[in-house]
Amino acid sequence: MTDKALLPHKDDFAHVRDWVFDLDNTLYPHHINLFAQIDRNMTAYVAQLLQMEPAEAKVLQKKYYHDHGTTLAGLMQHHGVDPNDFLEKAHAIDYSALLPDETLGAAIKALPGRKFIFTNGTVAHAEAAARALGILDHFDDIFDIVAAGYQPKPAGSTYDKFTSLNRIDTRHAAMFEDLPRNLAVPKTLGMKTVLLVPRNLGDVVLESWELADNTDPASIDYVTDDLAGFLGRLIDLSA
Ligand SMILES: [Mg+2]
Repeated sequence: MTDKALLPHKDDFAHVRDWVFDLDNTLYPHHINLFAQIDRNMTAYVAQLLQMEPAEAKVLQKKYYHDHGTTLAGLMQHHGVDPNDFLEKAHAIDYSALLPDETLGAAIKALPGRKFIFTNGTVAHAEAAARALGILDHFDDIFDIVAAGYQPKPAGSTYDKFTSLNRIDTRHAAMFEDLPRNLAVPKTLGMKTVLLVPRNLGDVVLESWELADNTDPASIDYVTDDLAGFLGRLIDLSA
């Protein structure tokens, strides 16, 4: 599987006062694949904007994602796109695949300290997804791509904005993410880092998943495919 410790001891997180969660494929599992809907909307947006065939638009969209970190950043730089218009249309999706997750909600609620959603999406998207999961009320704040000045994670300046706005002492914080590259900066800031991976990954698949973006494996303290189960181990249930 992996040489990363899968099961944390709660003492490892006893110093953590601020809990930071990515949204997509972190607070809900990868197989729900909400992003496929957003991805289709973004391709349609590019196709309409530039009067392209869908296949051609998809190639350009992926190029912007690759070169600029998000499709939006490429569209803003090269085509002067209004970010609010783009974000609204990209996130016009069906959330019905997300069902209330009581186990996750109880675990997040029981964590001692503040809880944040830190997403490259929008507040509206994060609220809709967290509400569908039944966990929205457990979060103190949501930091989104608008608050980040449209500079997505893993830009170091965006982590600085997030942590200074919320007065987070990163030595007493933990971050949960499904993209290895987004854990590199948190690790250098002294945060505990936890990588979420898709459920039921075989050994070989997990290895290629982890290696896919060339992130230094040392950036990742823990790997798990079960967020609620992982958090449950950090909570003193006898309390
Ligand atoms: Mg994610």
